[in-house]
Amino acid sequence: MNDAAQLIVSDAPREAAERVNLLGMSRAGLQEFLVGLGEKPYRALQLMKWIYHQGVSDFSAMTDVGRDLRERLSACAEIRPPEVAEEHISADGTRKWLIRVEGGSCVETVFIPEEGRGTLCVSSQVGCSLDCSFCSTGKQGFQRDLTSAEIIGQVWIAAAAFGLPKKGGQRRITNVVMMGMGEPLLNFDNVVTATDLMMDDFAYGISKRRVTLSTAGVVPALDKLAKVSEVSLAISLHAPNDALRDQLVPVNRRYPIRQLLDSARAYLGAQTDSKRVVTVEYTLISEVNDRPEHARELAVLLRDYPCKINLIPFNPFDASDYRRPSRNAVSRFWNILTEAGLRVTVRSTRGDDIDAACGQLVGRVEDRTRRSERHRAARAGSPVAGAA
Ligand code: SF4
Repeated sequence: MNDAAQLIVSDAPREAAERVNLLGMSRAGLQEFLVGLGEKPYRALQLMKWIYHQGVSDFSAMTDVGRDLRERLSACAEIRPPEVAEEHISADGTRKWLIRVEGGSCVETVFIPEEGRGTLCVSSQVGCSLDCSFCSTGKQGFQRDLTSAEIIGQVWIAAAAFGLPKKGGQRRITNVVMMGMGEPLLNFDNVVTATDLMMDDFAYGISKRRVTLSTAGVVPALDKLAKVSEVSLAISLHAPNDALRDQLVPVNRRYPIRQLLDSARAYLGAQTDSKRVVTVEYTLISEVNDRPEHARELAVLLRDYPCKINLIPFNPFDASDYRRPSRNAVSRFWNILTEAGLRVTVRSTRGDDIDAACGQLVGRVEDRTRRSERHRAARAGSPVAGAA
C-alpha cells in the first residue's frame, strides 16, 4: 500500500438477509411496497427522507413513522448499504473507497475535492466487459452488474463519511459521475433507478446538470435512455476516426462514431433544457492519439457539434504499455482545438498515488470471462489454454 494512503479494514461481510432491502428502491417501487403493507403511498416519501437525507438505517429511529409500521418494517425489510473494505486518502485529498459487494468482489468509488465542488465517481458493474485498451478496469474482466442498492450505496457511504447536508453539514458531494468501473448503459435499469435517486429531492436532490452518465457508446441503450432519464451525458470518444477508435474502444466496431454522435445529439434533443451539451472525453495517449493530425481531425469531426471536450492525459498502470503524453503534446492538442473554436478543458490528474486517477480503477473482480488471465498471458508472451 502507498505511504500516502490510509487503510481502514472493516469486518467480514454480513450474510445476505432474507428481508427486502429498501436502499436503492425507486420512489414508485417503495410506494408500491408500502401499499402492499396496507399503507398510504406518501409514507414512501417519509421513509426516503430518513434513508437519504438523514442517513438512517434503523427503522426504530424514524420517529415520525408510527410504531406499528416501524415494527412491521423491521420484520420484513432493511436498509443495507454495501460495506467499506478499505479507504485510502491521497496526498491531494482525493479519497478512494474499496467497497465490498455481495459475493465478495469489490468495486471502487472515488471522491475528488476541488475548489467549490466535490465530485464522486461511482461504479456501475463489477469489472467491465468492453475491454477498452487504455483502461485498467477493462483488463480485470467482468463479473456482474451492481444492484441499484450497490450503486446508490456508494453515494450513501461517501455522504456518511462527509456528514449529511440535511444534518447541518455543508454539501460536499456536489457532482456525481457514473465513470467508475463498468459501462453504465449495460446495467441500464439499475443505473437509471440509482441516478433517479441521486436527482430526486426526497433522496440526494443533486441537480440533473451535475449527475453525469458516461458511456463508451452502447447506442441502442443510449437511444432508450433518452426516453427515461434526464442525466447529463458524457461519451468516451478517445479517437477522431473509426480505424483508431476500433482499436481503443472495441465497442466502436458495432456502433461507430457517426452513430454514437447522432444518438448523443438525439439524447440532447429529448431533454427539456435546450442549453445542455455532451461532454466528449478524450484520453490522450502518447504517440497513439495525441498527434497534431489527430487534433485537427477531431476539430473537423466536432465542428458545430453541441459539446465540450475534456482532455484526459493517460494515467499509466501496470498492465499497460501506453505512456502518458508530454506536457507539450497536451498543450499543442489543446491549442489546435481551441483555435478551431471548440470548448476544451484538460483534466488534472488526481489521486494517482492511491491508484484513483481516471482509468486506474481495478477493485477486486472475480473474473467470469477469463479476460484478466488472457491479458496476463499476452503480456508474458504465452497463450491461455482454451482461450477464445
Ligand atoms: S473505459 Fe469504461 S467502458 Fe471501457 S473498459 Fe473501462 S470501464 Fe469499461
